[in-house]
Amino acid sequence: MIVTHEYRIYPSLDQTEVMDTWLELLRRHWNYALGERLDYLSRTRESINRCSLVSEPIGEIPSRVDYYSQQAAIKETKRLFPEYKGIYTETQQGNLRRLDKAWKKWMVPDATGKRGGKPRFKKVGKLRSFIFPRVNCSKAGAHVIGNKLKLSKIGEMRINLHRPFPDGFTPKTCTIIKKADGWYASIVLKDASVPEILPLDEVKTAVGIDVGLKELAVTSDGEMFPIQQFYRMGQKRLARAQRKLSRKQKRSKNYLKQLNKVQRLHQKVQRQRKEQHYKVAHQLVKQYDFIAVENLNIRGLAKTRLSKSILDAGWGQLLTIVEAVAVKRGSHFVKVRPHGTSQDCSGCGTKVPKDLSVRLHQCPHCGLEMDRDENAAINIRERALSEVGLILPACGGLDNSQPVKQETSSWDGIQLSLNEALGIAHSA
Ligand SMILES: [Zn+2]
Repeated sequence: MIVTHEYRIYPSLDQTEVMDTWLELLRRHWNYALGERLDYLSRTRESINRCSLVSEPIGEIPSRVDYYSQQAAIKETKRLFPEYKGIYTETQQGNLRRLDKAWKKWMVPDATGKRGGKPRFKKVGKLRSFIFPRVNCSKAGAHVIGNKLKLSKIGEMRINLHRPFPDGFTPKTCTIIKKADGWYASIVLKDASVPEILPLDEVKTAVGIDVGLKELAVTSDGEMFPIQQFYRMGQKRLARAQRKLSRKQKRSKNYLKQLNKVQRLHQKVQRQRKEQHYKVAHQLVKQYDFIAVENLNIRGLAKTRLSKSILDAGWGQLLTIVEAVAVKRGSHFVKVRPHGTSQDCSGCGTKVPKDLSVRLHQCPHCGLEMDRDENAAINIRERALSEVGLILPACGGLDNSQPVKQETSSWDGIQLSLNEALGIAHSA
């Protein structure tokens, strides 16, 4: 299992200067490496409408450009541009690896046929982080010792370990990030052991979760998690700050000041949202052994519930966090196909078509009436339960285990009387 913890770090002025220089040099290197790749692409490929039917002079065929050729060229870069000697080599490699990842995402479609966007040239200040791929091993570039973070070629600085590394986890990589309010170290921690999942036959409580527009989430038991007010207020404040920014002279001192304000507000809204998502996740995992959600990655969803895509990122994060917390605690987490969850009646299964504006599910067939999101959440739960072949009473009640126990006890009874009968037979 992998978790990421982010800690604030406190570099000195000199160290800040070094780190800013690194970011700028790595940005230029990124742009150079990206240019090299695009150049190779345009020289080895020709669009079909430009191609002569008779013959095509292709000139010299350039040697292949990929991660390995670019990594091998780092040495040459350091020779030609001595300022790059100041950068820890693994960090520079990490930068290229990141480009390689973005490149492949763009070139090669994934299992669902999706491709990432074209990697971009980065403008000044747009590269905000660099990585130390190894931490705390003998040849690592980053070491966390006590409350100090020691970075190769940068030096030692204080790190605020506001929460300790969890037991059994070891740090794997350390990414240094520049944010609006200072510097952070994002440390990826890995635990080799696999958490034990609760056996399916011990699942007592199951829940389905529908993420919505009006509420953040609604459970199949009718519990609602509203989108918090301060979050909405934060967004308003953010919009105001952004309007103010648009009126400033670009790149002027006041512009940069206002930009920092906007970035800080962004950060705040993001943090508040994340915090709420964690709260919801912990509450759900505490209450339920089995959590079912919609698989929002399915593309067709955008067509059926258009407005959902607007807030997609927010839902995506909530569901990712719920999954992470559930896995960590050994709860079951199941994603189901979202098709029709809001339209079907959870009582009788009939399709009851309705617009997004219709908040109430009213079934003309069986007369069921409930909140539309709750209805959807119940469908999600039932779909997930049937997927794993688990049968719980429809209300997801508290005493699910009882009928099972009764069954075993009655079985015991039969067994007992059988033994008795046999015993009698034996003694007889
Ligand atoms: Zn019905």
